[in-house]
Amino acid sequence: MSSNIAFFIFAVLFFRMMRDLISKLEADNILAREEFLNLIDNHTPDDAEYLFERARAVRESHFGKAVYLRGLVEITSYCSNDCLYCGIRRSNRGAERYRLSPEEILQCCEEGHKLGFRTFVMQGGEDPYFSDDVLVPLIDEIKSRYPDCAVTLSLGERSRKSYQRLYNAGADRYLLRHETAATAHYSQLHPQWMSYERRMECLMNLKEIGFQVGTGFMVGSPYQTSENLLEDLLFIARFQPQMVGIGPFVPHHATPFASEKGGTAELTTFMLGLLRLMLPGVLLPSTTALGTIDPEGREKGLLAGANVVMPNLSPVDVRKKYDIYDNKLFSGEESAQYVRNLADRIASTGYHVEFVRGDAPGWAKR
Ligand code: SAH
Repeated sequence: MSSNIAFFIFAVLFFRMMRDLISKLEADNILAREEFLNLIDNHTPDDAEYLFERARAVRESHFGKAVYLRGLVEITSYCSNDCLYCGIRRSNRGAERYRLSPEEILQCCEEGHKLGFRTFVMQGGEDPYFSDDVLVPLIDEIKSRYPDCAVTLSLGERSRKSYQRLYNAGADRYLLRHETAATAHYSQLHPQWMSYERRMECLMNLKEIGFQVGTGFMVGSPYQTSENLLEDLLFIARFQPQMVGIGPFVPHHATPFASEKGGTAELTTFMLGLLRLMLPGVLLPSTTALGTIDPEGREKGLLAGANVVMPNLSPVDVRKKYDIYDNKLFSGEESAQYVRNLADRIASTGYHVEFVRGDAPGWAKR
């Protein structure tokens, strides 16, 4: 009997402690290492619900009920890099390669603009075809055709000089996930010629140049520990990015990680909630990867504090070929129908799509 009482008291204290930690994170935007670890390792579904409730309150105080859409144009599946987790790594001889011409990319933007998109994200492998000499006139053309739109790039590691030229051409934002903030883990996920230091240097350069910068990591990538996730959070707290992209790791059949376990929606949404309390005004996408492993994933992400969705605007015939992980959400519908369906699904969460540029708070159009 007395041991039952002791257990009850312990359970109540523990329950309070998790909630206190969540409140502390909301108040201070940071926790001590052990506190973060405790939350990551020991939270219950009730604690997660409480975190999401607080994360929604914080997101609503900055963004109301608005969800920002970004039109994602996957411009090339050629890649000279060899990240071990990625389906378009150069060692995957079976990957189907394509690249869009500047004219095709402009067509995607035209269609996207008609649909109401005010941010275009050009993402791709590290493809030497997309040199500065190809990208600069393209960015310039998009910005002069659509002066009300933001251009985001996500084209991997480049020199500082190149980033500067792309910025000067009018690019507003750059996404480069750090992937993992633990150096040893970084080398387990990447070929030996890539380095954590170089990744960090790229991120610093992007920030100094003046981009709105996005970074992020995969949840549940091979060899990842809770300490690694803690390092990711601490790095993000120091770096103070304007955007954070996270999604579950999803194995790809033609990579060295084919038979590894994938990340879970549960841990991914929990990390989204923590990120929202750490960086209240951050732009936080509910990613395609989350929607891929859970049919309700994107909605769950929005209800955990995310406020951005990045639908695919690539031409339907190439969408399948930007094959970075297995079973990637793929819609064969033309973009207009697809965006209408997506907007309906977003509305089911109580949030709604707003067709605006959606810059980070405090950042104006250049
Ligand atoms: N070449 C660009 C864009 C990469 S694709 C760059 O290096 O930044 C965008 C993101 O997809 C990557 O940063 C990575 O975090 C994620 N990704 C790649 N393979 C994945 C996989 N198997 N599962 C989940 N996410 C993956």
